[in-house]
Formats: sequence, structure tokens, C-alpha cells
Amino acid sequence: MTNHHQCCKCANKATWFYTPYSDGRDKYYCDNHIRRGCSCMWITKEEYEHTSCERENWKLVKLSDTHYEYRDLMDQQLPCVEYDYCAEGFEKE
Ligand SMILES: [Zn+2]
Repeated sequence: MTNHHQCCKCANKATWFYTPYSDGRDKYYCDNHIRRGCSCMWITKEEYEHTSCERENWKLVKLSDTHYEYRDLMDQQLPCVEYDYCAEGFEKE
């Protein structure tokens, strides 16, 4: 029997956790149900040119002449930065 939190939309193990809620519902999501794409993953061309640290497992994709977006290595959009990711899931206390 699993001791990990489930996705709030299905029975899959949750790999994403919405950190701002301390005890709300709908804070655990699986890879299929996490909402991807958020403006906080965009940076401007100026920021791009001054960004030396590529984040681990992320890459930057050019969106337009003025903006770049962080994506994962499978070229998927990333959720809002307020979601934590853990491939192992989140254990219940
Ligand atoms: Zn799900």
C-alpha cells in the first residue's frame, strides 16, 4: 500500500505540490494533471543575455524577439514556480 499523496484529479502518485497552501485541497498533482505554462517562466531578452546559470534539467526556448521561456528537457512547458516537483512523490506524514 502506497504511503504517498495522490493526485487530486486521479489515482496517480502526485509528483507536483503547490507550496503556498499549507492545508488547502487540490495541492497535489500528477504529471498529467499539473497545469503547465506560466508567465513566471518567461524572461526577457535582456535577462537572457545576462543569465549565466542554466538551471539543472531546464532549458531556455526562444518565444519571440523579446522573450524566452524555461522548458524541461522534453520541451514541455513548466508549471508555475510555486509548484515543487519530486519524482519520488510526497510521503504522507
Ligand atoms: Zn492526475
